[in-house]
Amino acid sequence: MKITAIETLVCHARMRNWVFVKVVTDQPGLIGWGEATLEWHTRSIVGAIEDMSHLLIGEDPTRVEYLWQMMYRQHFWHGHGIVRATAIAGIDLALWDIVGKVANMPLSKVFGGPVRDFVRTYCHLGGGKMEDFYQTPADNAKRFAELAQAAVADGYTAFKSMAVPSTMPIEGQKPVRAAAAAVAAMREAVGPDIDIMVDCHARPSPAMGLKFGKALDDFGLYFFEEPCWPECVDGLARINAALTTPVASGERVTHLEAFKDLFEKRAVEICQLDITHCGGLSAAKRIAALAEAHRISLAPHNPQGPVSTAASLEFGFSQPSYIICETVHNDVPWRQDVVEEGFTVEKKGRIVRPNTKPGLGITINEAEVKKHPFQQEIVLREFGSDGGVTDW
Ligand SMILES: [Mg+2]
Repeated sequence: MKITAIETLVCHARMRNWVFVKVVTDQPGLIGWGEATLEWHTRSIVGAIEDMSHLLIGEDPTRVEYLWQMMYRQHFWHGHGIVRATAIAGIDLALWDIVGKVANMPLSKVFGGPVRDFVRTYCHLGGGKMEDFYQTPADNAKRFAELAQAAVADGYTAFKSMAVPSTMPIEGQKPVRAAAAAVAAMREAVGPDIDIMVDCHARPSPAMGLKFGKALDDFGLYFFEEPCWPECVDGLARINAALTTPVASGERVTHLEAFKDLFEKRAVEICQLDITHCGGLSAAKRIAALAEAHRISLAPHNPQGPVSTAASLEFGFSQPSYIICETVHNDVPWRQDVVEEGFTVEKKGRIVRPNTKPGLGITINEAEVKKHPFQQEIVLREFGSDGGVTDW
């Protein structure tokens, strides 16, 4: 069996261009689907996959680890920059999809699972509608409460909010009070049994992240995400040690050695590796083993498209330390038209039962994808109160 072509299909989904990767083989009808979505870097990803495909054409697609090593190590530059790590991931997912189809088993079974009966999912406030999630001001506690109630009415038992505003590296209590009021309003709106998460988007400095974390600690958040830059491992470790709330991070960490630093310093309790940015399922399995040695849980980052979700679920059904799957479902109204999924989501509790189809269990509808060609992503910028550039 040989790889004959590696193609990319770009599907404009408003905030993101989904980049689907199709690995074609010389076996009639046997193809694999992957995803390498990297918002605001779509053309780079498409180019990186084209550059890398020359290494793989003519190779056996079921030699996944061998091909992963080739993609990561050949041509001198190691593949852990965000563009290469994402491109590798897209191809790696498609190769695993082929392996599952050859074995005629869902990937979770290929990986030794399923290890659980269902996977729990959570949503963003607004379900993926970018204005609701990213642009609700932290001082609008009432709106946070309304969106929280809507998530619960949709069946979710857990949701994520961006209740921490952008700040200067050091600020006083005003933004901290706003964040606490927003979380208090959500807690009041949904009661004590729903799990609330707060994502800081790595906007705060370590000192501000600690202030926000302390102010929110008594609300019993399920996790507190990216309270400072992921590069600032000591800052994360300091915040994680100071809080009862588990700190989550890792969505921008792209390789095993960097996760090693994060785990060794106990910078997180929850590892948010992004399967489409960390080198794919081949790399995710190694990161998961390392996390397990530290008793750190897994909650992969997944605001991308439907292949990324399928990969996160197959991973979740095969990894004991996996706790919850991030999902978006309202980013574009035609999400379900571009993909046929193998798993089923139960409305009550928004839990997912295992996929029974081979591989990732998904079929991409190429005709539907063509209806949504590449468009430049919406430009989103973030500035401090003095007009200086801050993190988005
Ligand atoms: Mg995040």
